[in-house]
Amino acid sequence: MVLAIDIGGTKVLVGILDKSGQILDYHKEESRAVLGSDVLIEQIFAIIDTYYSKFLEDVSGIGITLPGIVDKGNGTLKYAPFSNLKDVPVAQIFTKKYNKAVYIDNDVNACAWGEKWFGVARDCDNFAWMTVSTGIGGGIVINGKLLNGYDGMAGEFGHMVVEENGELCGCGQRGCLEAMAAGPAWVNKALKEMYSGAKSILRNKGDALTAKDIADAARNGDKLAQEIVHGAARYIGIAISWIINILNPQMVILGGGIMEADDLMLPIIREEAYKRAISARFRKTPIIKTSLGYNAGLIGAASLVLYPEN
Ligand SMILES: [Zn+2]
Repeated sequence: MVLAIDIGGTKVLVGILDKSGQILDYHKEESRAVLGSDVLIEQIFAIIDTYYSKFLEDVSGIGITLPGIVDKGNGTLKYAPFSNLKDVPVAQIFTKKYNKAVYIDNDVNACAWGEKWFGVARDCDNFAWMTVSTGIGGGIVINGKLLNGYDGMAGEFGHMVVEENGELCGCGQRGCLEAMAAGPAWVNKALKEMYSGAKSILRNKGDALTAKDIADAARNGDKLAQEIVHGAARYIGIAISWIINILNPQMVILGGGIMEADDLMLPIIREEAYKRAISARFRKTPIIKTSLGYNAGLIGAASLVLYPEN
């Protein structure tokens, strides 16, 4: 058994998984990370002590996924943009408390790793994993190993500029994929167009409008919603054509909440990516949705323990 901890931008999941990657039980809470790393760590300790202390004896290790830049060698979270956490020695803190081996990685890398051992990328040594949710991130597996890059930051798919002079991104650039196609971009685009007079059933949603509402409206034939979905999928397709042309992956896997609209998006993503892929073989690269489901992060965290790198 392994203990898996998935620390997201807004939520914390703690679960127990068996060695085949099955989630036996999990507990989810709103993250208290904005109150600082000490509060967050205490919150996670409390979840473990309340729900999972009876399993600890049988736990072979603890896997932790983190939303940001991770130094795997030192076991440190270097920086998490959503919560402003900096230089937190996560592995050391959990090793000291529970006396178990602790493995950490960035959440998207962990999802890619989980997909390799428990998902659609089993027996696949070269692939890219892109998450599309509040932000857009990526994990790259090359020759059976996660690509870390010189600073451990490889795979920042969200900050490829797909539209010069496009929307302003959190990173300071304009037209990044994340600023053009992640969930908040959908909502901002809808609000902007409606403010300029566009007709849409989305007007009924007011301030509570979400990307899911937009996907639902698109399925119901709303023209503005369909334009937004099409635009986002097109940008993702363009970015994936670059990934395919550069990496020649065996497959590209998409996850994250926005990809719940895969029925609407995948045909457009594929069309745009294949249009720009440079060879007939590249145009056959499967572009598919993750098979890990909503709890991909927990499965990814467990895979860090069950299949440690090196
Ligand atoms: Zn950016």
